[in-house]
Amino acid sequence: KTSEHTRKAHSLEEVFEYINYWDTERKNLPVATDGIVLKVNSLKQQKNLGFTAKSPRWAIAYKFQAERALTRLNKVTYQVGRTGAVTPVANLDSVQLSGTIVKRASLHNADIIEGLDLHIGDMVYVEKGGEIIPKITGVDKDARGMLIGEKVKFITHCPECGSKLIRFEGEAAHYCPNETACPPQIKGKIEHFISRKAMNIDGLGPETVDMFYRLGLINDTADLYQLKTDDIKNLERMGEKSAENIVNGIAASKEVPFERVLFALGIRFVGETVAKKIAKSFTDIEELENADIEKLKNIDEIGEKIAQSIITYFSNPANRELVERLKANGLQLHRTEEDLSGYTDKLAGQSIVISGVFTHHSRDEYKEMIEKNGGKNVGSISSKTSFILAGENMGPAKLEKAQKLEVKIMSEDEFLTLIS
Ligand SMILES: [Zn+2]
Repeated sequence: KTSEHTRKAHSLEEVFEYINYWDTERKNLPVATDGIVLKVNSLKQQKNLGFTAKSPRWAIAYKFQAERALTRLNKVTYQVGRTGAVTPVANLDSVQLSGTIVKRASLHNADIIEGLDLHIGDMVYVEKGGEIIPKITGVDKDARGMLIGEKVKFITHCPECGSKLIRFEGEAAHYCPNETACPPQIKGKIEHFISRKAMNIDGLGPETVDMFYRLGLINDTADLYQLKTDDIKNLERMGEKSAENIVNGIAASKEVPFERVLFALGIRFVGETVAKKIAKSFTDIEELENADIEKLKNIDEIGEKIAQSIITYFSNPANRELVERLKANGLQLHRTEEDLSGYTDKLAGQSIVISGVFTHHSRDEYKEMIEKNGGKNVGSISSKTSFILAGENMGPAKLEKAQKLEVKIMSEDEFLTLIS
């Protein structure tokens, strides 16, 4: 379906006329719009222009000036995220913006606050950009007059636990380093632990974790394994059945393989892929705990930054103790024969793009198969792509690119035969 408002323009003047017209008229459309896409009309010229790595050269988006409003800054508060990152939030006099009432806006980090030279009581411009959370884009300094408020100074200590904040080299954000006793970080770690790609605990979501934490039932991931149905069945919105589901789900997670337990620990920079590489290279968690930086860096895809992060994690006695308790609860903190089975080098050195809709397995399963067979799943097609694993309805742009670069396209069946 194409929009009935599409027009063919014959000159730049006509393009600007169209833009100017729609800048106001778009408010009468039944959908929210934030810009216009300009395209070269001739297919032949489109083909000649082609693509950059990221986008076509024959199309460009024109963004309308975002709607903005002027309002007063009352105070700045600070939120601590699950990684310990501290985000400053502007608390504003309520103001109407693009159909909603805005009371708060993100200030991102200390540099932004400094750049705006923000003072309490300032009249500030608020904009809704691409993000859902509005942001402050400027200060009306003329409105200050003689009554300039106190300059906004970024906090030095965590508002949740009082620890002195730190800033990593080359990063804009301030962090609370108190990983093991700062409430939002504790909850964040548990939420990550139970998430689908980690321990995948049925029936347990962030709201439930929050409730258990508030009630003092859990204070870390290992505490989950001590929960009894009787402890939780009488809680708000719970009941016998959900309580049993949760306890069973937690018990079942003891079968989750080593690589996913490693990911679930939430060690900084240790994502799914890195966790898999580690699980293949170490027999058990003790071997990992005692590994030095050189040994870690010898593992494929692990460089200085990740290796250092692993060393830092295990140099914290609280983390070592937690791992001990998880082990005592029967989690898979060692490699099994099963973990190693199914690993081959059949796709070693190959970069594979997955595209389309599949019938035999899910996309995630294909990704896993590629990795287990030594291949690498990459996002976009390039001359280095070994082949494309294509399901139904592969996008026309991808198809065209594959043909142009002469990249082989492989069906699901062909792929399964290849790795079987
Ligand atoms: Zn803190």
